[in-house]
Amino acid sequence: MVNYKDLGLVNTREMFKKAIKGGYAIPAFNFNNMEQLQAIIAAAVETKSPVILQVSKGARNYANATLLRYMAQGAVEYAKELGCAHPQIVLHLDHGDSFELCKDCVDMGFSSVMIDGSHLPYEENVALTKKVVEYAHKYDVTVEGELGVLAGIEDEVSAEHHTYTNPEEVIDFATRTGCDSLAISIGTSHGAYKFKPEQCHVDPATGRLVPPPLEFSVLDAVMEKLPGFPIVLHGSSSVPQEEVDTINKYGGKLEAAIGIPEDQLRKAAKSAVCKINIDSDSRLAMTAAVRKVFVEKPAEFDPRKYLGPARDNMKKLYEHKIINVLGSAGKLDC
Ligand SMILES: [Zn+2]
Repeated sequence: MVNYKDLGLVNTREMFKKAIKGGYAIPAFNFNNMEQLQAIIAAAVETKSPVILQVSKGARNYANATLLRYMAQGAVEYAKELGCAHPQIVLHLDHGDSFELCKDCVDMGFSSVMIDGSHLPYEENVALTKKVVEYAHKYDVTVEGELGVLAGIEDEVSAEHHTYTNPEEVIDFATRTGCDSLAISIGTSHGAYKFKPEQCHVDPATGRLVPPPLEFSVLDAVMEKLPGFPIVLHGSSSVPQEEVDTINKYGGKLEAAIGIPEDQLRKAAKSAVCKINIDSDSRLAMTAAVRKVFVEKPAEFDPRKYLGPARDNMKKLYEHKIINVLGSAGKLDC
């Protein structure tokens, strides 16, 4: 048993309280390798932002659970070395799909877990989430539940269509499960293909596709039912078109990749939404930089020469999100 406090991590409780009060959201960036982790921590320290490092079940299998724990501990020490004496770093399980997986993460030093029972019948979701909360709270680990189904694919989680969260269920769910935060479905979705081109209209100024807006009426109704309760948005990458263009220019083949416009996320971050999940954008930034090096310098075979630029590109992206989208810059007393 490893308690997250011994690793220098924090849970989400205080962080979310401050974020709701302050009208900003905490970035939740997925990671599974060293360069991503370095970029996230460097960006968080330089912008003085709290940060959530999140790991899906697939990423945990990819990176190895033991190694991950030490990487998270290393991230805290790295932040200190970069000049932040009191970093606020959460290690969070993204889309836990069973009690056993969540328990394993709590036992291995995670400070926060998500139990995603959103695909289950309502009563089963309540029962599973409650069971995870009861275990996690014994160790002061915070728990994110989910109501409503997002479309798209993330690791093993996939759904054909989204079902918006039913605001009528949220009080019952939060009260009976005791969860600390709630992921809701208002039109965001997983992956880099969030909308079909036929769902979008063309911006005459840029010629780019603009997707339909998020369903803010659902968010408003949820906030009315649960005032001040921490809300989470998954699938909130914006799919930067310049990264997509770079990937395609250097031999990639991403067709009509479309994300959530940043102004929509900015609006959400000012509300009770206090955690915004971003994964695909970092994948795109990394891939764009690597592809560029491969094409421009085909003789290069030192991984540092392509993973280094990839790391720089990801760091730039993370800083942009923190400063210009989530509004969490400067919220940490380093
Ligand atoms: Zn998700």
